[in-house]
Amino acid sequence: MRAFKAHLRGLSPYPYKKEEAPVKLDQNESPFDLPGALKEEALGRLRAIPWNRYPEIHAESLRKRLSALLDWPEEGIVLAPGSNLLILALSLAAEEVLDLRPSFPHYAHAAKVAGTPYRAVPLGEGFSLDLKALLAAFRGGVLFLPNPHAPTGALFPEEALRALAERAKEVGGLLVVDEAYREFAGTDFRFLARENPHVALLRTFSKAFSLGGVRAGYLLGSPEVAGVVREVLPPFVLPAHTGAVLEVVLENPGYVEKVVEEVVAQRERVYRELLAHPTWRPYPSRTNFLLVRTPDAEEAFRHLLSQGVLVRRQDRYPGLAGCLRVTVGRREEMDAFLRAAFGVAYA
Ligand SMILES: *Cc1c(COP(=O)(O)O)cnc(C)c1O
Repeated sequence: MRAFKAHLRGLSPYPYKKEEAPVKLDQNESPFDLPGALKEEALGRLRAIPWNRYPEIHAESLRKRLSALLDWPEEGIVLAPGSNLLILALSLAAEEVLDLRPSFPHYAHAAKVAGTPYRAVPLGEGFSLDLKALLAAFRGGVLFLPNPHAPTGALFPEEALRALAERAKEVGGLLVVDEAYREFAGTDFRFLARENPHVALLRTFSKAFSLGGVRAGYLLGSPEVAGVVREVLPPFVLPAHTGAVLEVVLENPGYVEKVVEEVVAQRERVYRELLAHPTWRPYPSRTNFLLVRTPDAEEAFRHLLSQGVLVRRQDRYPGLAGCLRVTVGRREEMDAFLRAAFGVAYA
């Protein structure tokens, strides 16, 4: 086959394998569907829009709405069907991608697909940022920094991000803070990007907004950065039906607070209860998932699955031997997880 670029040979697929289980805690989704009344409202809008017409070229109306809600210039906003696509666009545009190790696997995958030079700086002790190494490694290009971090759940200190933002300015690079889990941490890094065009933020509707199936995310950055990302993406990239759903949730965002409240309450409960586990060790998390170290990830995963609980293995990532990632679900789902988790100790 000579149709494709040589660097795409041997590309491994995104590490996700679909499995069926009654308790699904493997994709960091919200355990709550969009409230019924909002779904009805969205269906009404879908009926009203003409399906034969293209949507707006770069979701202008929604950007206007987000601009007002977030006090952010419309020209500095890019909407896309999922922040994964924004990560791909940034990776295509980047001179180099700088990553953490371990980190959200899509950054490395996107850089590889884009054929963009890629380096990763290992995390320090206890999943901390090795700020010294990171500052030295950041010599331009795009640094992807999920905060809170995936897959560890750790929140990095504001001071470290300030230093990286300054460094980005110094070297003419771009610090991209991926805020996919920000609602569960109560953080908001707009202050860092507002005065510094070398910082951009990524946000998603897939987690706290409970819209993983709808596919939507956005970038907040300087008009220059946003302009490049918009041009890398194809025109009309945000489907009209996604736009219609987003309109409804942006007009009625109240449910998000309830999702976050319940998920955070369950997260803290499960963390506390797991501290009593004889062999498993949970890490503190500011996200909607818990990273759990077990003596044997394969065995722990299989045992949970045999009890109807599906989680995600993380043990193939550097520094994460034995680790599983458990999405925080509803109370009864977490009861099932805990029963299965403690069952293993006596099996
Ligand atoms: C879940 C997640 C996203 C969201 O991606 P979408 O394409 O918007 O669903 C982005 N970044 C990180 C680190 C995530 O964990």
